[in-house]
Amino acid sequence: MIHDIIIKSGYVIDPEQNTIEMKEIGVRNGLFVAPNEIISENETYIDAEGCYVSPGFIDMHVHIFTGYTELGIDADRVGIEQGVTTVVDAGSTGYLDYAAFKRKVIEPSQTEVLSFLNISRKGLTSSLSELANLEDLMSMEEAKEIFDKELSIVGLKARMSGSVVKNSGIKPLEHARMLADCLNVPIMVHIGNPPPNLQEIFPLLYKGDIVTHAFHGKKHGILNAEGNLIPEALDALKRGVLFDIGHGTSSFSYETLMKFREQYDNPFTTSTDLYIKNYQKPVCSLMNTMSKLLELGVPLIEIVKSVTLGAANALGASDIGTFAQGTKADITIFKLIEQPTILLDSEGVELEAKQILKPYMVLRNGKVVYHDESTNSKRARDNR
Ligand SMILES: [Zn+2]
Repeated sequence: MIHDIIIKSGYVIDPEQNTIEMKEIGVRNGLFVAPNEIISENETYIDAEGCYVSPGFIDMHVHIFTGYTELGIDADRVGIEQGVTTVVDAGSTGYLDYAAFKRKVIEPSQTEVLSFLNISRKGLTSSLSELANLEDLMSMEEAKEIFDKELSIVGLKARMSGSVVKNSGIKPLEHARMLADCLNVPIMVHIGNPPPNLQEIFPLLYKGDIVTHAFHGKKHGILNAEGNLIPEALDALKRGVLFDIGHGTSSFSYETLMKFREQYDNPFTTSTDLYIKNYQKPVCSLMNTMSKLLELGVPLIEIVKSVTLGAANALGASDIGTFAQGTKADITIFKLIEQPTILLDSEGVELEAKQILKPYMVLRNGKVVYHDESTNSKRARDNR
């Protein structure tokens, strides 16, 4: 039986067309279709009046391996319940526990779950210094085997900061480079306190690789004292290395982002690094992070692009982050609520936001999986 949905009266944000305009979105049997193709007589209408309608949001840096890692948080809690249709676990699991991750997290979640596989076989399951022992690095044979088999793995994760690598220095990233070249997948590199320093890290990154926590406010970051990118970071950006927010407990500074934006108009992606301890403060959700950007003056369309098309491109995924006809209908419907709110970055800087983004309704594969009736006086209605 054909099941048609028309979403009407919402402001549709189309990241490919670069437009925000009132129009209808059509869905047939879980896939996007042109609204004028829907001529059946029992279509369902979703009234999105007063809302924005976007391709489903993607958060490409979360930690959701509950039970196996201390920091894990439930995937749906940071996914569909917060208006996010796809989450990417960034290195919680390595080669050894991937089967458990699949069974415990990917399969039971309503949110689509992808992963950057930790280059340490152990991932974050036994300690947060997973690259201190070079013997724990995944071998080329293991990497080939698991990437061949597991389509939810989109790339490698290498956490390159002092507390993670200890005395291993830059060696784990050199190993990641070798694996990535052979597998033809991106590396997501976490940066933080050295060693190793960015002068060693950036030259090992190529087009399509991702630097998460790019805008942290710690010493030895991407900017020099004058507020310009250090030469290695600038070269990387020119090569097509992507900068990602990866907010986290201690990795997002309003000042760093604003100084970057004053000089460079390269797009970045927006992700949260959500885990159990930063869920209450200071990260809260992807929409909370997006609200911070909006208050900082980043245009809404640019922010939405950074969690839809931009993120999908970074993941090499052509079936998400888009309204393209024939792709699966993952949709985030949200509201901009006028509500003065204090929003913190990781440095404790307070930003008084005038308005914040709030999820209203979420569809995955054309099915409503989340609906917050409290945020709207106008309820979605079923016209059958
Ligand atoms: Zn992380």
